[in-house]
Order: sequence, then structure tokens, then C-alpha cells
Amino acid sequence: AKGSGGNGWTWYDPEMDRQADAELRLTAELHQAAARDELFLVYQPIVELPDGRPTGVEALLRWRHPRHGLVPPDVFIPLAERTGAIVEIGRWVLTEACRQAAAWQRGGGISRVSINMSARQLSQPGIVAEIAGIVERTGVDPTGLMIEVTETAVLAVDSAVDALRDLRALGLTVALDDFGTGNSSLSLLVNCPVDVLKVDKSFVSGVTSATAQAVIVDGLIDITNRLRIRAVAEGVETASQAVRLHAAGYRYAQGFHFARPMPAPLVDSWLADQRL
Ligand code: C2E
Ligand code: CA
Ligand code: CA
Ligand code: CA
Repeated sequence: AKGSGGNGWTWYDPEMDRQADAELRLTAELHQAAARDELFLVYQPIVELPDGRPTGVEALLRWRHPRHGLVPPDVFIPLAERTGAIVEIGRWVLTEACRQAAAWQRGGGISRVSINMSARQLSQPGIVAEIAGIVERTGVDPTGLMIEVTETAVLAVDSAVDALRDLRALGLTVALDDFGTGNSSLSLLVNCPVDVLKVDKSFVSGVTSATAQAVIVDGLIDITNRLRIRAVAEGVETASQAVRLHAAGYRYAQGFHFARPMPAPLVDSWLADQRL
């Protein structure tokens, strides 16, 4: 039963109570997930067009829940944002991704790793010093690190733009994620220090037909070229999308057509295959 009537009032609904209970339980478990070793990262290659040569990877978080199995990030990241658990989790992600990036850099593997940061995390006072500390401890070359943020993250606090500027001064690269969606918009290109724009997969999916998405994909490459920003096409699922994107001027892409997100050891064997 729906808990809300047409008059805008909400009345008691036991189903909603159960949902709230489940969310509370999940929240409590989420706070302990890092300490209990239930979190892990997978890495999805970002490649160069047209040949698919690897240029880096994006770290994507996974939660292996003891009873529910794999909980997708689209479920637990928003929950973690609301409850504040994202601060601990984000710290774990930064540390783990930097540790892995440093290992790859030392071994001559993938040298660039991209890390997602949410609004709550980027707004933490002292976040830049914290990242500088992690860079120091892990020995990672910061020029190999890219931070992916959305508009929500940048607008969350006035100091977010300053934080991004400071991160760039440390040598990190800044990317605007999900560009073109409600999460990221054109106005950010005016006053936000951005190196890379990740064009959302909702546009990429329509690129091979005469759609508004195709027009936008073409327009964005012109905008990014003229602003000297690199564009990455997200969610490339087919060869024809890759061909069309390359023809439009895109140089970087990411998507299931090239590679799925995978645990670090599989990235190594994938990389070896690419060199054959
Ligand atoms: P995102 O940052 O936009 O990451 C890209 C998402 O698209 C990933 O989903 C990836 O698996 C998926 N994807 C990649 N290629 C394709 C494709 O060709 N087709 C389709 N349909 N999907 C593709 P995932 O791993 O489920 O992550 C979902 C979102 O959760 C991410 O979206 C990001 O916003 C958030 N997230 C993931 N890891 C972290 C993290 O460590 N920290 C924070 N704050 N957010 C994270
Ligand atoms: Ca991302
Ligand atoms: Ca994205
Ligand atoms: Ca997304």
C-alpha cells in the first residue's frame, strides 16, 4: 500500500516502518563495513580511442554484505551520504585506491587511478590535508590521481572549489562526473577548476542515431576542446558507439564495450592481454 494519499497527507503504514527498520539496520552495518573487511574496490579501464589503449582506471566501490550479498553502490552510497558513514568509507576508498595506484606505479602497470568523491566527503574540513597525508603515506605519485566529483559535491560548500584548487596544486587531476545530468551542469565550467569532463552515459547511449543526445555529444566536444578540457565518454557499450564518438572527436572512453570493472589482479591480466 502507498503511504501517501492524494491530499498530501501521509498516514501510518506498517510497510514503511519495515523499510525504515531495514534502512536503519543497513546504516548500522554500513558504519562497520570497512572495519569488517566487507568493502573492496574494482577498477574499470579508461581507454584511448580508436584502438582502446588503456590510459587509466576508475576505482568503483563494492560492499559484500554478509547476508544480502553484493549491495550495489547506487543503493549504499546515497545512504552513506545521508548518514555520514560516507566520511569513513570515503577515507577507506582513498587509502585503498592510493595504495593500489602506488603498487601499479611501482610495478609499471596502470599509472593513473580515478577516485569518486561525494559531496559530504569533499566538504569535510581538512579534506585536502587528509588526502595529502594519504598520498605521503602510500607513496603514490599524485599526478597519477584523478578525483571525480559531481555538481552536488561542488555546490555543497563554498570551500569545495578551493578544495579542488588545492588538490590540483598538489598535482591531482579534477574531473566533473556524470556531466550533463542533474548532477553536473554547464555553469560549473565557468568557475570550477576542471581538467576532465565525463560525459554521462545517458547521452552516449543515443549517439548512433539522430537524437538530441547525439547533438549534445557533438556540442560537448566543441565546448571541451575550446576550454582545453579533456572529455571522456562514459558507458560505451558497442563498437558503433566507439566509432561514432571517435569520429566526433572524442579521444577517451570508458564502458562495457572495452572492459568491465574488475578486481586489481584481473586488471593486470587484462593489461597483459592488451599488449599481445
Ligand atoms: P559513476 O561514477 O558514474 O560510475 C560509473 C558507473 O557506470 C559504474 O557503476 C560502472 O560500473 C557503470 N558502467 C561502466 N560502464 C558501463 C556501461 O558500458 N554501461 C552501463 N550501463 N554501465 C556502465 P557502479 O560501479 O555501480 O557505480 C555506481 C555509482 O556509485 C558511480 O557512478 C558513483 O557515482 C558511485 N560510486 C561508486 N564507487 C564510489 C566511491 O568509491 N565513492 C563514491 N562517493 N561514489 C562511488
Ligand atoms: Ca565516476
Ligand atoms: Ca559517471
Ligand atoms: Ca553515475
